[in-house]
Amino acid sequence: RGGAPEKEIPFARPDSLTTVYAVASGKGGVGKSSVTVNLAAALAEEGLRVGVVDADIYGFSVPRMMGVTQPPTQVDDMILPPVTEAGVKVISIGMFVPGNQPVVWRGPMLHRAMQQFLGDVYWGDLDVLLLDLPPGTGDIAITVAQLLPGSELIVVTTPQQAAAEVAERAGAISLQTHQRLVGVIENMSWLELPDGSRQEIFGSGGGRAVADSLSRSIGAEVPLLGQIPLDVTLREGGDNGRPVVVSSPDSPAATALRGIARQL
Ligand code: ADP
Repeated sequence: RGGAPEKEIPFARPDSLTTVYAVASGKGGVGKSSVTVNLAAALAEEGLRVGVVDADIYGFSVPRMMGVTQPPTQVDDMILPPVTEAGVKVISIGMFVPGNQPVVWRGPMLHRAMQQFLGDVYWGDLDVLLLDLPPGTGDIAITVAQLLPGSELIVVTTPQQAAAEVAERAGAISLQTHQRLVGVIENMSWLELPDGSRQEIFGSGGGRAVADSLSRSIGAEVPLLGQIPLDVTLREGGDNGRPVVVSSPDSPAATALRGIARQL
């Protein structure tokens, strides 16, 4: 555990031109995976070569959200990742687990799985690699920081103050891992009513609070990259395997997500 990788990880090379974003959250259900797959699709639409690693080992949902049904193919000792409609290369633990079996791995096996995802998968040249981390501050977040020391952290939270406190902890690990904190994304910020007014179902201010608190902790400005409204098309897009930036590009959520992607 923690030794040198058996295989060289291309994105960990000092001369790697790939920007690696690890997407973190304090707790589950805040929309971390939805944000990851949509940022990936939005960046691919901008013409970038994009890959996604579903590192949410216990709660993998990326293949469904991106509409990936085919398994990776193997050529010699290389694994070729499936490519989504939006042109994004995707790899997930869900592609290696038969049926809907639970994953019961412990730390060292998780570490090894991440090493394989990054080292044995043939990604080709990527401009951006996004990692959907499990919620919280567990083994995988540390493993990713070890394997990809140049990776940068994005924190997703909701407007709720209770969610903000755990999200701050997820962001604060960047102090130990020395990852750059790119910024905070607030999801589920409001629901737009038919009369155009906004109902703040989960309260307000969580994203700003996390960004300000992290700025104080690390002594540098951590921006609030954007706010994404509650939007039924986003949920439907995830369920149907077509990220909302592709399936409903003019929806409020897609517009917000594209605005965030442009800042990356
Ligand atoms: P996490 O990865 O943080 O566990 P998910 O991305 O899986 O969260 O989102 C949890 C659920 O909430 C999913 O069913 C998703 O479709 C839905 N969801 C996330 N963000 C929104 C949003 N802005 N509007 C509507 N539904 C959303």
